[in-house]
Formats: sequence, structure tokens, C-alpha cells
Amino acid sequence: MATIKNKILVTEDDPGIITFLKTTLSAEGYDVITAANGKSALSVISSHCPDCILLDLGLPDMDGSDIIASVRAWTQTPIVVISARSMEQDKAAALDAGADDYITKPFGAVELLARIRTALRHTYTRTERDEIGLRGHYRVGAMEIDYKRYRVTVNGQDIRLTPNEFRIVALLGRNAGRVMTYKAILRELWGPAASMDNKILRVHMASIRRKMEPNPNEPRYIFTEVGVGYRMAEDESRG
Ligand code: CA
Repeated sequence: MATIKNKILVTEDDPGIITFLKTTLSAEGYDVITAANGKSALSVISSHCPDCILLDLGLPDMDGSDIIASVRAWTQTPIVVISARSMEQDKAAALDAGADDYITKPFGAVELLARIRTALRHTYTRTERDEIGLRGHYRVGAMEIDYKRYRVTVNGQDIRLTPNEFRIVALLGRNAGRVMTYKAILRELWGPAASMDNKILRVHMASIRRKMEPNPNEPRYIFTEVGVGYRMAEDESRG
């Protein structure tokens, strides 16, 4: 498929998952290298410069957040964390430490490949921020955020958001496709001294969804990542 083979580092200690990942990623045309613990992952990352890193949070030798912090000290290579379902706090901590995204076990090939494509696309297009800075708007489906006029429309209809609601939607739009943790959103909107109470975000989000989602119970534009944060739908037709 791909003309240039992207190199993916699989950091995982479960032989069954390693086999699944190798098979799935090789079939999709990726070059796959593996590491079974944190120490060897760090050495492979510096010697092989992978294009994307898959990182199991439950490795035998090192804490996931420590590995991420070490990697982030010298490279912005996208990191997609693999975690167990019950580990919401670990997922949020990994994202706050600099991981780009996560995938929850058990996961299927379709979801895995979508996460990797998104992570790689963000490397290539640099960031949505740059693009939006040039174009002044972000559009996905029938929804458009107009950054210059502080406006959101759905099907061309003005959505009357409060200033705080607009800031939340604007922030998620600049990071479309990526999960933003509650902590990251609160810090970005109200500064480092902001209260880390998620309740205020949930109240704003409920109001935002009532206004802009055709069916607030089945959001089309802003998804909830349970226990972690929110993700705005990404326009996959670009990049
Ligand atoms: Ca493990």
C-alpha cells in the first residue's frame, strides 16, 4: 500500500499481542520492529528512529509514563499507548506525560490502524494548529468552527455558544482526532492554577452537545473518552 514504509516500534511483553500486532501491521505495509521491555525500547528508539511507537503501559521493567518522559526529552515521534480497560488514570497520566493517543485492550485491527494513521498524519501535517492558523477554520461533516469570527455553525446554522463553550470547542478543533485529557483542557482554558474539577467540563459539554449535536446521546462531533477526556472527530479526507 504505502510507497514509503513507515517503521512502527511495538513495545509489548505479551507474545500473543506481539504476534497479532506484527501480522496486522506487516499486512498493512508497515515495517515492524519489537521490544519486550522499556529499556530495550529506549535503545531501539534511538538506534532505529521509528515513525510511530506503540507502547504497552504494563511492561515488566519500567513505568509507562517514565518511558514517555524519556522519549519526549529528545523526540516528538508519535506514541500510541496500549492499555488495559480498567486503567483510565494511567491512560490520562500517559497522555499528560506526552503520549499522543491510546488504544484499549482488547482492540481490533480496524481501530488499531486508524489510531496509527491519525498519529502519523499529525507528524506529517505538523499540527492542526498550523493549518487552522492559515485557513482560519476547521470543518468536519456539517460542522464548522470559524476561528476569526468566534463562531460555530452546523449545516450553516449559527450555534449560540457561550464564550467558555466556544473556547472548549475551539481547543478540541485545533486538536481534532486526538484525545484531550480533562487536565489538559482545564489547564489550557483556565491556566495552570485552574481547579482540576472535571464537573465544570461535563456541565459545559452537556450544554455544547445540546446545542450542536443532532443527537446528544450519540455525538457526531465530540466524543467522550470515558474517564480520560474528549476527542473531536477528525476530517479524514484531508492530509
Ligand atoms: Ca504487558
